[in-house]
Amino acid sequence: MKITNPATGAVIANVAADNAAAVRRKYEVARAGQDRWAKVPIRKRLDAMAGFRDRIVAMQETLARTLTHEVGKPIRQSRNELNGLLGRIDFFVAESLRALREEKIYSDPKLEERITHEPLGVIANISAWNYPYFVGSNVFVPALVAGNAVLYKPSEFATLTGLHIAEMLHEAGIPRDVFVPVVGDGATGAALTRQPVDGVFFTGSYATGAKIAASAGRRMIKVQLELGGKDPVYVCEDADVQAAAAGIADGAFYNTGQSCCSVERIYVHESIHDAFVAAFVAEVKGFRMGDPMDEATYIGAITRRPHLDVLKKQVADARKKGAKLLLGGSVVRGKGNWFEPTVFTDVDHSMALMKDESFGPIIGIEAVADDEAAVDLMNDTEYGLTAAVYTPDAKRARKILAKVRAGSVYWNCCDRVSPRLPWSGVGHSGIGLTLSTYGIQTFTRPKAWHLRGA
Ligand code: NAD
Repeated sequence: MKITNPATGAVIANVAADNAAAVRRKYEVARAGQDRWAKVPIRKRLDAMAGFRDRIVAMQETLARTLTHEVGKPIRQSRNELNGLLGRIDFFVAESLRALREEKIYSDPKLEERITHEPLGVIANISAWNYPYFVGSNVFVPALVAGNAVLYKPSEFATLTGLHIAEMLHEAGIPRDVFVPVVGDGATGAALTRQPVDGVFFTGSYATGAKIAASAGRRMIKVQLELGGKDPVYVCEDADVQAAAAGIADGAFYNTGQSCCSVERIYVHESIHDAFVAAFVAEVKGFRMGDPMDEATYIGAITRRPHLDVLKKQVADARKKGAKLLLGGSVVRGKGNWFEPTVFTDVDHSMALMKDESFGPIIGIEAVADDEAAVDLMNDTEYGLTAAVYTPDAKRARKILAKVRAGSVYWNCCDRVSPRLPWSGVGHSGIGLTLSTYGIQTFTRPKAWHLRGA
């Protein structure tokens, strides 16, 4: 499999991909390793995870550069992802003992009821490329700590990062037959989901997630799907326009808009629409696009080349239907995959730009008359990952956010993930969750013990 730098189009590595027979062998290896791993005391499993953290710290700059070279992420943002990863590992290491300990739920002189948290067994972890350290570690760290073996398939667009992860985990003491990397594209992923695993934990698009859910459903195994979003933000007329514009522009364009929780739609109260648009466009004009290795770069490359066509189509569709293009709108000619930061106003929900996931540096801004209209539009989507509102009025924010169908809601912030809170989606954004203590227990089967003494 060729690994290409999306910023230049240059081939940077060749790696051997796993065919269906190799995937089968890897499954058998993991199945044999899991039993032994589950018997290793949890404190030792946690020690290995602390060792993994030490290796990340030691290799941080190399890892950041690899990530930037293979996905086109600006180098500062690659470093931020690695720093964020350390915080997530710290959370899992601090909370796992408590989340996984045996619980005594009830007792009287004749009866005791207890819950233990049993590992699921062998799980498949099929990952996306946009935040490979985050979306991978949200699964494999708590899964391994809980005693599972993990067959980890990084995205074909983040394979080198996936191989770095495997190397560091193995060096830290996670056995090679317990964390097993599987290399390849969608066909390899499909071969992996055909193995008799005990759970599939997937991060990626709705289209692929739906296929995985269909295949796993027949086998009655645990399935978790962390899918896309069409995340809205609503700016009320009492908001601080400058602060909102700065925060939302970052939420829309960070990671070149290639985040599941990127801001994808903006609704603005009509009375501040023009002021907000002016401030927003000024912010976006300040974003520097260019060599992802340059420290000053904020907008990087589009990781998947075919995605340029998706962005082009959304732009053409919006223009045809009457949207006003204020900035950008085109593919940048030359080597690599580049798309200009793009801002539209005068958009509506007849346009793909406001309904389908864009997953790139493009955004539409729509004026709304009141909170009710804003909530209706925010909920007019198949997705439900995140949603945000900007207003100084806490009561008003709470009222609006309570009505929004989304896994995470934000007041005066956006595009944010916390390891302490569950990460989940509604509708086409997925099922199940990662992070928080729920995201540790999700890799276990709670076993009920009814104990009656003689
Ligand atoms: P994708 O669906 O194209 O690929 C995801 C993974 O699935 C890859 O590893 C791929 O090789 C594999 N795959 C492809 N076809 C398969 C099949 N038939 N069976 C099994 N595996 C298969 O998605 P992507 O382009 O890597 O990621 C972008 C998407 O991920 C966006 O929609 C984004 O919103 C979403 N995402 C969601 C979250 C979240 O937490 N909700 C986080 C990051 C990304």
